Amino acid sequence: MPSAFGHALFAVSLTPFRPYKGNLLSTLLLSMACATIPDLDVLGFNFGIRYADMLGHRGFSHSILFAILMGVFVYFFFYKEEHSKTEDLISISWYFFICTVSHGLFDAMTTGGLGVGFFIPFSGERYFFSYRPIPVSPLNMQSFFTSYGWSILKEELLFIGILSFFVAVSGYFWRRLFFKET
Ligand SMILES: [Zn+2]
Repeated sequence: MPSAFGHALFAVSLTPFRPYKGNLLSTLLLSMACATIPDLDVLGFNFGIRYADMLGHRGFSHSILFAILMGVFVYFFFYKEEHSKTEDLISISWYFFICTVSHGLFDAMTTGGLGVGFFIPFSGERYFFSYRPIPVSPLNMQSFFTSYGWSILKEELLFIGILSFFVAVSGYFWRRLFFKET
């Protein structure tokens, strides 16, 4: 996996695309939460769930279905009251779906581990993209503080950082040109 830092950084770059006005701080926190939550699946290792299981690492929590559910969940818990139209449900859920699914997309571009179970629970198959520029980062926190962990983090942040920069700039112009803050 890229580290939580990489996933969170990309989520920050998506925030100009939030389909509603204002609320930048809560959007930042929720976007970063959506992009990092899938890796909580590593907790399953403690309960005897194996990596390759549907509930294992890069399994269900990295799937497209999970991202859809996250999007809808965030809408109902945090936005429904103020944004109650059907189109709000669709656009806000879509936004948080993208934040969440970005996690699996980056994981599928890493050099190690098992692939991502995008279609769980319908298919247990694991996928990688053919383009995999992100070195896999250590699963435990201590390894981050070794020079090996640091060199991996730098490489990962460079790739995700450059991508995030372009996404954020596009988002900024999209918001200025097309998004009506009514
Ligand atoms: Zn992951």
